[in-house]
Amino acid sequence: MNYETVLTTCTYCGCGCGLLLEVLDGEVVGTLPQKDHVINEGGACIKGWNAHEFIYHEGRLKHPLIRKDNSFKEASWEEALEVVVTCLKKIKEENGPDSIAGLTSARCTNEENYVFQKWMRAVIGTNNVDHCARL
Ligand code: SF4
Repeated sequence: MNYETVLTTCTYCGCGCGLLLEVLDGEVVGTLPQKDHVINEGGACIKGWNAHEFIYHEGRLKHPLIRKDNSFKEASWEEALEVVVTCLKKIKEENGPDSIAGLTSARCTNEENYVFQKWMRAVIGTNNVDHCARL
């Protein structure tokens, strides 16, 4: 039996609590809050304590999905990103950058949210950026 803990950041909200995933024989079986983490100092809310449960959930999406003929088809990341790029370029060319808005998620880290708003402003060219916590 091989047991180890792996340091990670909780993905459930933007607080960014430090968690230790308990890994038994290569399978994540539990979560512990990191004692000396600057944010949570050994605590975690109920979501953090159970953060490992979605890893092997049967309903978890593991691949991008592209809508075709009123149903979703599994696709590679390259195919999915090509669709996104093509559609965003077309919308921007036809209607301008302010016709595009970006909504990000409290389930991303602060760093991911920062990169997203930067990308919207610098690449798309709009300030239309918001976050699910304000919806
Ligand atoms: S443990 Fe709770 S408060 Fe901390 S990041 Fe996760 S969801 Fe947010």
